Amino acid sequence: MDLNLTADEQAFRDEFRAWLKANVPAPWTKGGLGSESGGEYVDYLKRWQRTLFEGGWAGIAWPKKFGGRGATLMQQAIFQEELALADAPHLIGTIGLSLVGPTIIALGSEEQKARHLAPILAGDEIWCQGFSEPNAGSDLASLGTKAIRDGDDFVVNGQKIWTSFAQMADYCLLLVRTDFESPKHKGITCLLADMKTPGISVRPLRQMSGDSGFNEVFFSDVRIPVTQVLGQVNNGWTTAITALMNERANLGTGIQVIFKRNLNALIARSRTVDRNGRPASEDPIVRQKLAQAYLELEILRLNTNRALTSLSRSGVPGAEGSIQKIYWSEMNQRTQQIAQEILGPYGQLIDFDGGVWQYAYLRSRGNTIEAGTSEIQRNIVAERVLGLPKSY
Ligand SMILES: Cc1cc2nc3c(=O)[nH]c(=O)nc-3n(C[C@H](O)[C@H](O)[C@H](O)COP(=O)(O)OP(=O)(O)OC[C@H]3O[C@@H](n4cnc5c(N)ncnc54)[C@H](O)[C@@H]3O)c2cc1C
Repeated sequence: MDLNLTADEQAFRDEFRAWLKANVPAPWTKGGLGSESGGEYVDYLKRWQRTLFEGGWAGIAWPKKFGGRGATLMQQAIFQEELALADAPHLIGTIGLSLVGPTIIALGSEEQKARHLAPILAGDEIWCQGFSEPNAGSDLASLGTKAIRDGDDFVVNGQKIWTSFAQMADYCLLLVRTDFESPKHKGITCLLADMKTPGISVRPLRQMSGDSGFNEVFFSDVRIPVTQVLGQVNNGWTTAITALMNERANLGTGIQVIFKRNLNALIARSRTVDRNGRPASEDPIVRQKLAQAYLELEILRLNTNRALTSLSRSGVPGAEGSIQKIYWSEMNQRTQQIAQEILGPYGQLIDFDGGVWQYAYLRSRGNTIEAGTSEIQRNIVAERVLGLPKSY
């Protein structure tokens, strides 16, 4: 792709830059940064998404007729970069924006589009993704949560696990088994489940970061109307793959903003923390490591642009999303390791920089598991990119 900005792109950048200057809220400094387990921080992030929405800057890649901006590939890249440069907060409704919304646009009924897309953009509807179960993670098609048709409803019984945002979610993109005889990929259906439906209970799981960002979700005789099927009954595998490909393609794009802010803060901190009586930034090893972290983030940025190019040509995210997923997750773990080495004991303190360093280090361990483990992503790259035989 051509990385030089055209006059139109410059105008887009300048408009968004000016808007950000006037609208980015003061940074969150009350501690628990990164914690999405509830409370004031969530309200702060919701307010930010609403501000973006009201300014016409939420879901910029979504088609205009669904409330997006119909942004070009290059505009999406500019958008992310400007958010990072402006030190803007991340988006709380990320599952809705990057995964559920695009899947509803691709496969949803007109009623579903009318009902859900605008609230997703505004951050009024927070979504969670109910895919994984205690016995179905990497082998997702083995999922066992049952849905039996009863009149105009499905009656759902079973359990999901590791469901991020379920503790605050309004809706869940839920995979259930509706056919018990067919091969396992062919008996799955995807439902748009209202989390307030009687029979759904959410139990938060405490993570090593101290957060309770993900949950167990139990379904006991939960009635979900048939009109809430996304895609076709028993063809939920196609819906799930569409959602997962959108997740892998989009997560790397949004996550750059967080990484860039984090690296900028680390570079700034390296000038103030002490190492042998001198600022750490003067230490040759620290400088090497920070330069390496910067290079890796640039590689992520450019590869994201490459993935967007491919997406804009084919219209569907491809296996490049897996390359990105492996890269950003492992890169972030390396960067957080470097941060701990530079900051020393300060990096472990909850009241130093609002606890961001210890939180980010501990949270990064999950990066190579969530949204498909690194081993599964490498299998996808081996099979779909390199054309190697299937694993067994
Ligand atoms: C922070 C975080 C947030 C999450 N959020 C959500 C969410 O919102 N919604 C949701 O549904 N799920 C969520 N998950 C769950 C996540 O998708 C699963 O943990 C993941 O898919 C792995 O499944 P599993 O935990 O059952 O591990 P398993 O599938 O049991 O895997 C165990 C190990 O075996 C390896 N392995 C498995 N199969 C193969 C194979 N064929 N080849 C090579 N190695 C293999 C895996 O790589 C892993 O190392 C989240 C997980 C984390 C860590």
